[in-house]
Amino acid sequence: MCREIPQLQFRPLRLTSALLVWLLAGCGTLPVAYGPPPADVSTPAPAVEQPLLDAPAVIHVHTTYSDGHKSIPAIAEIAQRQGIRVLYITDHDTVAGQPDAGWYGNTLVLVGEELSTLQGHLLRLNTTHSLPMNQDAAPVIERTSAEGGLTFAAHPRKFKDPWTGEYDSLNGFEVYNLAADLVERPIPRLAIAGGLLPSSLAYKQLMHRPDELLVQWDRLTQTRRVVGTAGSDAHGHQFTPLLRFAPYDLALAFVRTHLLLPEVTPDAVHRALAEGHAYIGFDIFGDTTGFTFVMLRNNRIVASIGDRHAFSDGLSAYVWAPRVCAIRVFRNGELVRATLGYEDRWNVEEPGVYRVECELAGRPWIISNPIYYGVPQQEESVNEYSKLT
Ligand SMILES: [Zn+2]
Ligand SMILES: [Zn+2]
Repeated sequence: MCREIPQLQFRPLRLTSALLVWLLAGCGTLPVAYGPPPADVSTPAPAVEQPLLDAPAVIHVHTTYSDGHKSIPAIAEIAQRQGIRVLYITDHDTVAGQPDAGWYGNTLVLVGEELSTLQGHLLRLNTTHSLPMNQDAAPVIERTSAEGGLTFAAHPRKFKDPWTGEYDSLNGFEVYNLAADLVERPIPRLAIAGGLLPSSLAYKQLMHRPDELLVQWDRLTQTRRVVGTAGSDAHGHQFTPLLRFAPYDLALAFVRTHLLLPEVTPDAVHRALAEGHAYIGFDIFGDTTGFTFVMLRNNRIVASIGDRHAFSDGLSAYVWAPRVCAIRVFRNGELVRATLGYEDRWNVEEPGVYRVECELAGRPWIISNPIYYGVPQQEESVNEYSKLT
């Protein structure tokens, strides 16, 4: 959700229920320590050791530099408390927060912007300056890329401010945007989210798998690497002292873009984002840290999430999740494997764009970026990370 606070407009007949919601709103604002439930200690460790660090990142967060309701240090304190390693601030049409960037304990705070273009909202990362708003997106994307920045379409299918621009030159887009997902639910359910139930319970019920965006993503990745991220789009809106919408502590705990990188530095973060070394984790359902999806030869990693690898015989794929879940493997957008467990391994006999989803208790839990395996039109690139094994 961006810029406008959603208006809860009740018809007269709904006045009674609206009043009830307001009176009971305090239930949703009781102090709750948000964060992932403890890991399932009964799950055996992965059979293959992933050499990269798994850094939970929250991308697309608003602050008092635009229409957010907390300062960067205040939000960074929440992120630090939750073990978030990277907090990426993207205020509307400004990078004014950049003096506040840096380390807050173990949390690296970076500042880009969410630029309003004529084709929708564009996340501009790894940039030192803002660009004029309400321009055509294409030259903005071109200039950002030329300057070494990254561009991601924000909330592409949000009912307000959808992305109508092209995808060809973007680094990627938000496969999931928490605020868009919640805002687009029917108003009564939104009211419940605001007050009648503890927010974490309500939002767990409200969220859903981004079916259409996943189909679109699978289509786009057939021709080139397109990186999928999750957008928190946290604003910390507060309608009344008792009625809050997606408070920061909940928004930051809900969904993260886990970055796979050798160390947490600005360069490594941007490289991981550019190369798709990332998966989306709905950590509110259970800590996803450690999720593994790799391709192996002789039990050595030759490709990890986001990598390209040439087709060759004798490769196997391996998936590991921190909990028993429904593991689904997609090849070129088609479901090709479905297993229940904490790991899956199979011989990869066909080239394709492979990605993995895990479902936990009927809810989306993990959505990985693809491994591009032997796909035509895509050059083979050396997997530098495999050298670490
Ligand atoms: Zn937006
Ligand atoms: Zn936003």
